[in-house]
Amino acid sequence: MAVFVYAETINGVYKKAAFEAVSYAKAIADQSSESVTAISINPSAPSDQLFRFGASKVIEIKDEGLKTFGAKAYSEAIAQVLDGSIIVFPHTTDAASVAPMLSVASGFSLITNVLEAPQSLSPFTVKRKAFSGKGLMNAVASDSKVVVTVSQNAFGVKENAVDGSIEQRELTIQNEDTQVLSHEQSSGKLDLKEAEIVVSAGRGMKGPENWGMIEELAEVLGAATACSKPVSDIGWRPHSEHVGQTGKAIAPNLYVAVGISGAIQHLAGVNSSKTIVVINNDAEAPFFKSADYGVVGDAFDIIPKLTEKLKAFKG
Ligand SMILES: Cc1cc2nc3c(=O)[nH]c(=O)nc-3n(C[C@H](O)[C@H](O)[C@H](O)COP(=O)(O)OP(=O)(O)OC[C@H]3O[C@@H](n4cnc5c(N)ncnc54)[C@H](O)[C@@H]3O)c2cc1C
Repeated sequence: MAVFVYAETINGVYKKAAFEAVSYAKAIADQSSESVTAISINPSAPSDQLFRFGASKVIEIKDEGLKTFGAKAYSEAIAQVLDGSIIVFPHTTDAASVAPMLSVASGFSLITNVLEAPQSLSPFTVKRKAFSGKGLMNAVASDSKVVVTVSQNAFGVKENAVDGSIEQRELTIQNEDTQVLSHEQSSGKLDLKEAEIVVSAGRGMKGPENWGMIEELAEVLGAATACSKPVSDIGWRPHSEHVGQTGKAIAPNLYVAVGISGAIQHLAGVNSSKTIVVINNDAEAPFFKSADYGVVGDAFDIIPKLTEKLKAFKG
């Protein structure tokens, strides 16, 4: 029996989180000498790219009614083609809302935000994030059928090329629960949740007119930009950049926090970052306790110098 994985797309293009989820499914499949079957919905990009990460079959669901995302409808579509006892989802906003619906509808155990390959498949035992990333726990599934969601950037994208095949399935699912009334595209050049590097700034920047230096630093680093909640609440930055407990939860390889105090609600969304650099002029700022590297100083002095040094280093 194959290990299944939902390969999420955005505008038909596979997300990096999809490659990571396929890599994770392959790690499970290798433990049980099984193969990986990926399910995608209305992809426009070639699905054979999933073979590189270990999917030996891709089921492309074609359904005009699923052009708009709807968690219930997507869960129904996936259930119709699912023919295994384990299915992996990336822990993205959309996929993390489909996974519980599928779990309930199909009677599978649900384990979210897993960080590593399972320690055991019977019973399914795996390490996962708990309490918004403040803790870790080993979760044990009570059922042999399991839905897992993989915390983004936790397992990583791993190349593991196999030969594969693609099957197309035409479905007509009712997708009436969700109606899209308007669509706003976030202005950032990089998707914050997929970015490897994030430069984030808070109220210490004093005003929106000072964000040029944050954007410049982000550009040199090839990073996405983020901000603390009050910054987006005041309207200095768009809400799409707000990270934390009530904003986006991110886990980049490098998180650079400028003029952010490090309140617990902010940390909840960023403390899974692999390396945290804090720049703050208050040596007592709580963020330093979570930092891998800390710079005590005035951001208005440090950021332009850091950007210049990085430009020189790269040039
Ligand atoms: C229910 C709830 C949910 C919340 N959810 C979130 C959330 O999701 N995300 C979030 O971010 N917050 C959230 N908050 C708010 C959170 O508690 C903090 O108030 C907020 O994170 C503080 O934002 P800040 O660090 O930008 O501002 P401040 O706390 O004002 O900190 C500004 C920092 O900048 C430093 N600074 C000032 N000038 C400079 C300078 N020139 N150079 C360098 N450093 C400087 C200061 O020393 C200070 O540490 C939530 C709060 C509640 C109650």
